[in-house]
Amino acid sequence: MPLREFQCINCGEKFEELVRNGTKVVCPKCNSQELESLISSFGFKGSTKSSAMQGGCGTCAGGHCSTCH
Ligand SMILES: [Zn+2]
Repeated sequence: MPLREFQCINCGEKFEELVRNGTKVVCPKCNSQELESLISSFGFKGSTKSSAMQGGCGTCAGGHCSTCH
């Protein structure tokens, strides 16, 4: 099931929500729709899209391109 984790940009509340097609996700605390979706199902800490992830170089993010090493 597509369980996604969100953080409210307005109040900072973190919550999980089952998202189906057409589902409008709102913050349960303040009803704001300005949400940042966090990746919770892959074990990453934090939600930044930085190139600091292991194995990637920022260009390919997979550790296999010519600039990786
Ligand atoms: Zn909120």
